[in-house]
Amino acid sequence: MKVVKFGGTSLASGKQIQKVLSIVISDPKRKIVVVSAPGKRFADDTKVTDLLIACARKKLRGEDATDWLEAVVERFASIAMDLEMSNDIVKEIRADLEERLRGYKGDPERFLDHMKAAGEDNNAKLIAAYFQERGIEARYVSPKEAGLIVTDEPGNARVLPESYKRLYSLREQSGIIIFPGFFGFSKNGDVVTFSRGGSDITGSILANGVKAELYENFTDVDAVYAVNPTFVSHPTEIQELTYREMRELSYAGFSVFHDEALIPAFRAGIPVNIKNTNNPSAPGTKIVNERETKNGPVVGIASDEGFCSIYIQKYLMNKEIGFGRKLLQILEDFGLSYEHIPSGIDDVTVILRENQLNQELEQAILHQIKEKLDADEVKIQHRLALIMLVGEGMRRNIGTTARAASALAKAGVNIEMVNQGSSEVSMMFAVKEEVERRAVQALYEEFFVSVPV
Ligand code: ASP
Repeated sequence: MKVVKFGGTSLASGKQIQKVLSIVISDPKRKIVVVSAPGKRFADDTKVTDLLIACARKKLRGEDATDWLEAVVERFASIAMDLEMSNDIVKEIRADLEERLRGYKGDPERFLDHMKAAGEDNNAKLIAAYFQERGIEARYVSPKEAGLIVTDEPGNARVLPESYKRLYSLREQSGIIIFPGFFGFSKNGDVVTFSRGGSDITGSILANGVKAELYENFTDVDAVYAVNPTFVSHPTEIQELTYREMRELSYAGFSVFHDEALIPAFRAGIPVNIKNTNNPSAPGTKIVNERETKNGPVVGIASDEGFCSIYIQKYLMNKEIGFGRKLLQILEDFGLSYEHIPSGIDDVTVILRENQLNQELEQAILHQIKEKLDADEVKIQHRLALIMLVGEGMRRNIGTTARAASALAKAGVNIEMVNQGSSEVSMMFAVKEEVERRAVQALYEEFFVSVPV
C-alpha cells in the first residue's frame, strides 16, 4: 500500500485534479490520497489557505468578511466547473464556509485554525466526489473518523502517538481514501492545524499509521535540487538522499518537503519519494534510511540568511563546569532557539535566527550573559548567512573541508565560522549575507561541476 500526497499546485485547478486522478488510478497500490487546499495557479495567485486566513482575520477585526468568503467559494466553483461537476458540491462548500464563519466563539486562535482547515477539508470532499463521478470507488475520510489526534496547539499541532494504532485500521477499507491534510483533532474534538505547509506531515503520519511501503509526495518540481535553483540555473537533481541528509538540508532552497514531515516516515522506515504531478514518469527524489554514497562526498548545498552570532569569551572557560548549561539557560529563559554552537578553548559562539530578536531583547541578553557568566567579552554579529554542505559521503572522503575552504578562498569569500559535528553528515560555513550567493555558487562549482567525482 502507498500513501500519496498532492500539494497545492497539484490541486490548483480542474486540469491539475484530472492529472491527480490519472496518477492515482495508474497504480492500484495508491490507496490513501492526502490532499492540500488548492494552491497557486500562477506566480501571483493566492493560495486558498491565505484567502481563508484573510477571511478569518477580517471577521476577527469585527468587519464583514463576505468578500473573502466569496473569493474562496469562487476558487472551488471554478475547479468544479473545470471538472464538469454538478453545482451541489459548490453549494455544500459554501454552506460549510458560512457555518465556520458564523461559528466564532470568542477564541481567535481556534477560530483561525477552524477556518484554515476548511481549504483541505472541502478540497478532499470535492475530490472524493469527483472520483466517484468518474466511477471510482473513493471516499472522503475525515481525520476525526480516522483517529488522527493531535496536541491542542493551534497552528502548531503535533501528532499524539495513540493516533498511529487507530490509523492502522484504514488499511481495511476498500477503495481509495481521500484524506484532507494539514489538520487533526484535539482530544476535546477541536480542529487543530499543523504549521504551514503541514499536509506533508499528514501524509507522513498516515504512511506510518498504515505501515505503507512508500510515501509518495507529489509537488511541482521533478526532484529535489542539489542547490537552490535561484542561485544556480539547472542544478543537479538529487536521485536519492537519506533522512539525515534531507534534514540537514532543511535550510532555505530545500523547501519542497516540510521538515517536520520526515519524522513519522523515518520512525517507521518508510521511504519517501518526491515526485512531479506535471511529469509523473520522472523518477523524482527518494529519501531513504541508507544509501550507497557513490556520487562523491556532497549531495547538496543549502543556505539561508538572517542569522546572527553571539560570541562569548572567557579565560579558562574550558575548565569551568556548568558554563554551557548557564549560557543555554539564559537562551531558554528568553525563549530563544539556537542553530549551532561552535566553540574554542576560551570562547563559544551561539548562532541563532535574527528574527527572534529585537534591539531591546538583544541588549538584555548580552547584559545577562556578561553578568551571569562573568564573561570577559560578549559581542554580537548580525546579517550572517549559513551554508550547509551536506552528504553522508563526507565521512569517508578525505579533504572535503580543504576543497570547500579553497573554493571559497578562490571566490574571495571570507569564512566567518566553520562547524562540523562528529556525525560528519554536514559542514557549516557562516559568511556575511552579501557574499552568500557567490559562496554557494563557488561550492557548487567545486563539488558538482568542475571536478567530477
Ligand atoms: N494549505 C496549507 C498551507 O498552505 C497546508 C499545505 O498546503 O500543506 O500551508
